[in-house]
Amino acid sequence: MTTRRTGQRASTRARGRRRAGRHSRKKSYKAQWFSVTALAVLGTVMVVHPDAGRQTLAAQFGEVTASREATLPPVIVPPTPVPTPTATFTKPQRPAPSLIRPPKGAKPNVTVSSGKLGVVPGTDKATRDVGTMTYRVEIEQGLSFNGAAVAAAVHKTLTDPRGWQALHQVSFERTDRPDADLRIILATPTLTDKLCLPLDTGGEVSCRVEDRVVLNAKRWMYAVPAYAGKIDLYRNYLVNHEVGHALGYGHSPCPEPNTPAPVMMQQTKGLDGCLPNAWPTTKAT
Ligand SMILES: [Zn+2]
Repeated sequence: MTTRRTGQRASTRARGRRRAGRHSRKKSYKAQWFSVTALAVLGTVMVVHPDAGRQTLAAQFGEVTASREATLPPVIVPPTPVPTPTATFTKPQRPAPSLIRPPKGAKPNVTVSSGKLGVVPGTDKATRDVGTMTYRVEIEQGLSFNGAAVAAAVHKTLTDPRGWQALHQVSFERTDRPDADLRIILATPTLTDKLCLPLDTGGEVSCRVEDRVVLNAKRWMYAVPAYAGKIDLYRNYLVNHEVGHALGYGHSPCPEPNTPAPVMMQQTKGLDGCLPNAWPTTKAT
């Protein structure tokens, strides 16, 4: 009995499923019919008016959005700063031509060469009256240096009690005349290399050739690591060393580690255990 009743219930459920299945299929036929009809109508509309569908869609979305945008005030979006990869620049940036000096904080120019020299005008009297050697200061145009300040630094060095005047019967007088005994020139590495020929300054060091003392602007600006940021002291060294050549001195090696380097040592290339020294009277440093 139990089995029969279960069987009846099972067949009833099966009939129900069959009915439901037929009903579902009926529904799905209707839906398909509607879809096909709708597609046919839409197709006809699109064939007759190819732009009709697009216009309708545009009206629903695009044009509404556009007209909404048109009625709103324009929104000004500031450009987002993007970090510039400096590696893509092939030329160094230069200040505008109308600027006499670069803006505050800008990197000074010590390398972009104009190839033209300008004489610093003015004079500085000798500090004594023996064996006067006249010199004039010339600076390559376009370098970020104040001519008067450079000339003052050079004259102070040459007339310093620790300088060559303490060892030689010489006194230095600055002039801006073309017949000066010595030209002290501050130039870019490029022009330094040219003015120093036949010596090889390699874009890095300074020289003295004939009546020219050529100071490499890169060294004048940044000195060398051995001077540990003592830029003024290195400038003293640079002037004294190259003018020392003009007075007839050759190079000297480091005599003993941890003693002051001779001013005629090539200190720019290394100290070989000696200590930085800018003055011919070596014990004075
Ligand atoms: Zn030298």
